[in-house]
This record gives sequence, C-alpha cells and structure tokens, in this order.
Amino acid sequence: MSIKKVTSHPTQNEELIFDRSQIGRVGYRLPKLDVEETNLDEILPAELRRDDDLEGVPEVSEVDVIRHFTRMSTWNYSIDLGMYPLGSCTMKYNSRLNEKVARIAGFANLHPLAPEREAQGALELIYNLQEDLAEITGLPGVSLQPAAGAHGEMTGVMLIRAFLDKRDGEKSKERRVMLIPDSAHGTNPASAHLAGFTVKTIRSTDEGLTDMEHLKTLCGEGGIAGLMLTNPNTVGLFETNIQQICDEIHQAGGLVYMDGANMNALVGVARPGDFGVDVIHLNLHKTFSTPHGGGGPGSGPCCCTAELEPFLPTPRVVKDAENYRLDFNRPESIGRVKAFFGNFGMMVRALAYIQTHGAEGLREATEAAVLNARYVGHHLTESYDKPFESDSMHEVIFSHKKQSRKGVHTLDIAKRLIDYGFHPMTIYFPLIVEGAMLIEPTESVGRADLDAFIDAMKSIAAEAVETPELVIGAPHTTRIGRLDEATAARKPVLRWKPDMEATAKSA
Ligand SMILES: *Cc1c(COP(=O)(O)O)cnc(C)c1O
Repeated sequence: MSIKKVTSHPTQNEELIFDRSQIGRVGYRLPKLDVEETNLDEILPAELRRDDDLEGVPEVSEVDVIRHFTRMSTWNYSIDLGMYPLGSCTMKYNSRLNEKVARIAGFANLHPLAPEREAQGALELIYNLQEDLAEITGLPGVSLQPAAGAHGEMTGVMLIRAFLDKRDGEKSKERRVMLIPDSAHGTNPASAHLAGFTVKTIRSTDEGLTDMEHLKTLCGEGGIAGLMLTNPNTVGLFETNIQQICDEIHQAGGLVYMDGANMNALVGVARPGDFGVDVIHLNLHKTFSTPHGGGGPGSGPCCCTAELEPFLPTPRVVKDAENYRLDFNRPESIGRVKAFFGNFGMMVRALAYIQTHGAEGLREATEAAVLNARYVGHHLTESYDKPFESDSMHEVIFSHKKQSRKGVHTLDIAKRLIDYGFHPMTIYFPLIVEGAMLIEPTESVGRADLDAFIDAMKSIAAEAVETPELVIGAPHTTRIGRLDEATAARKPVLRWKPDMEATAKSA
C-alpha cells in the first residue's frame, strides 16, 4: 500500500501571492478624478518622496486575495475540524455559546479603568467565577490574575515563599528546597527557580507513581519549602497516596502545590483542598474550555487555603452587602502579577462553561473524559506498549517500544497519524517514558470518532511491521512532507525575494 502525493489539488498547491501577481491587475476601481490633480512634487519635501517604482508588490484582484487566504486557512488543523488528542493539553471543544456570551458588548467593550460603579456586572462575574472555582477545588482563596498555567504556578510558589517568610522570619532562608517529581512538566522547576527555590527531583516508581521512600528520604534531608505535584500525574495516573504525600510534606514544615493542568480528570469528583493541597493553579484554557493555542490569551487562576489568602495578588474583587469593589488594601500581598485583573474574556467563557454544565454536567464531563481515555487505552494495549498497568485517568500513555525494533519511532507514528486525518498526540513527554505517546481524547469526542482514531492507530502499528518505510516517510498527504525542523527553527527563511531575471524575461 502506498499513498500517492497529492500534486494537483488547487487548495493544497496554493502558490505565494507574489506568484499570482499579473502586471496591471487590481482589486479596486476609483471614480474619475473630479478635481484638479495635485503635483506632489510641489507639496511633499524631497526626502519624503520615493523615487523607485513600487516593485514586487503583488498585483492581484479581490477574488485572488480572498481565495489565496481562504485556501491557506484550510491548512491548519483545528479543534473545530476534528479530534485533537494532545495529552496534557486538554484540547476540548469550545462551545459557541461561550463565545457568544464573551462577545456581549457590555463585557467585550468594558474599559479596564471604568469606575467600579459602572463595572458592577463585570466585577460580579469575576466574583462568581472565583466562588465557583473555590467550590470546585475546595480552596477558598482565588485570584484570576495569572495569564497562563505557568504564570499561575509562579504566583502559587510565590505565595508559599511569602507564607514561609512570614511564618519563619529570618529562618525561612533555611527552607528553600522545592521537591518536584521526575515526571513533572518543565514549567514546574522553572517556576520554583523563579521564586528563589532550589529543586530536588523525586523518583517515580515502576508503577508510574511518586516514590514514597524517596520522598521520605528527601524530606529527612531538611530545608523543605514544599512540593509541586501534578495529580493525576503526567503519565495519566492518580497519585493514590496523595493524602500521605501531603502529610509528609506538612510534617516536614512545607506546603503542597498542585499543578492543576490535569483537573479535567477531577472536576466534580474530587477536590484538591480536601486531600491536603495548599495551593493549585487551574488552566481555564484547558479544563474550562476557553480557546487554547495560536498565541491567544490564556488564564491560570491560582486557588489557595484561607491561610495563604492574605498573600494573593492585589487587587481582590470583594463583595460588600450588594456591591462589588476592588480591594487594594492588602499589606501582605505578593503584589500584582498582571495588568488590570487578568484576561477577562477567558473568565466570561469559563463561567459560561461552568453555568451551562451545572454541578451534574461538570461531573459528567469528567467521567466521559476518563472513560474515553480508558477506552483508547483498552483498545490499543495489544498494538502498543503501555508502560504502566493501572487504569488511566483522562489521558493514557504508550511508548514506541514494540515499533522501534523495526526502526519506527514515536515521531514517525505521530506524523503518519496526519495522513489518517488526525492531529498527532503529545510525543516524547513526559521524559520518564522513552518514546512517549500521550493521548488525551477529552470528553468532546463520541464513540464513532474514538473508534476511527483507534483504527488509525492499529493500522499504523500494522504498517510499522509490514511496510515500515511508509510510516518512516510520513506524512504523504500534506502539501509539505517531513520537515527538517531544527534547520527551519534555526535558519528560518522569512523573506521572499522576487526572481528579477525571470520577471525581466517574461516582460
Ligand atoms: C499545560 C501545562 C502547564 C502550563 O500551562 P500553560 O497554560 O501552558 O502555561 C503546566 N503543567 C502541566 C502539567 C501542563 O499540562
């Protein structure tokens, strides 16, 4: 079996807009001049006048422009086009209703410096979202300021630092060790480092969980400021010892930070505050369905215990009787972490998501997300190596172990998935699984789509045995095949230069 490269498809073979240019073609028509023509030489100083011809500007018609850009827009895979199983990223569908609510003029056009009395609706929305997130996490102090998950992490560990400095005074300096498992997202050690901590790495067990013995040993070495733990962790497993882990850290005098990027496995079912976590960040652009990727704004709220609340960023939105106001009088606060109040549009979408689901609906979404991942896990265990036996939560991890014997690696499998019409899964993360493939279907896919994905993965596993070169050479159906990504990143060619000789000849 081989897939022939598509060469004649008009939308796949779109040229540069410069190549569409034809001398003299325009996309406008101006009315006849009905005043005397001005001589620019008389009114514009010489240094402001250009003396060359406007060379190299594409000369195209309106329909050329529209078709050119519309065709190119179809080359991007998106969540509206199909399943996007990027593990750890929770690429769930963004409901149109949430988009509609975020576009309500009173929300969308409100100036961030509008006086409180004119912004009561927006302040109420922020306040209500804070209350809902407090309920969902079991942690009463909430700041919506952080603009992304990593930003929420930094805010969270700064709270820990501020708390320890207040509690221990001068002695706080002796507590600067942040424990982080070897499976953690790279942002965790980066955030800890930014807040002035030194990182010690905790090993994972063969079952993919935190190694309790190693945790105890590290706690015994002293100087513990805290722990940063993702739960479920980055291999998709629930840390079943979580209460004991929190107890160990608390006994060692530290606090527990939970990376809440994987909350899509817990919302409505378990609350971090109830199992001993002190502070957590959420990713509204993952768990709470606000748009994600493409460089748009994110939102990484930070939720904490009442004990840590005084240190949260300033200002806080508070409610006095019937009115909402901004509280700037917070002497212990770590200060501002973001201009104004955070990315407000994301908050509108997230609250719409929470309220349209309701408590029951949120729990159902969580259950469907976990069920979908387990379904994929169950159906792919024969075709791919599944490094951990336990049932997964909302994402499931495989490795390329079975295929690499034939020279087919994770990258090849991911690229081949593109030929089957799917966005690839997350690859080579987390680092503790060699050739990792982390698959997170989310609750936004139905059974038929899951089955199609499973069939594609099985078919690729068969190809890896029968025709490995087909997988190694993938993708075959896209406009461009396998890229030299390192060179593309290091020596990008960002400027198109016209072929002047060819132009001269044709003219
Ligand atoms: C996505 C993610 C982050 C970082 O979130 P951003 O919003 O991308 O900054 C941190 N930890 C984990 C486990 C994640 O999946």
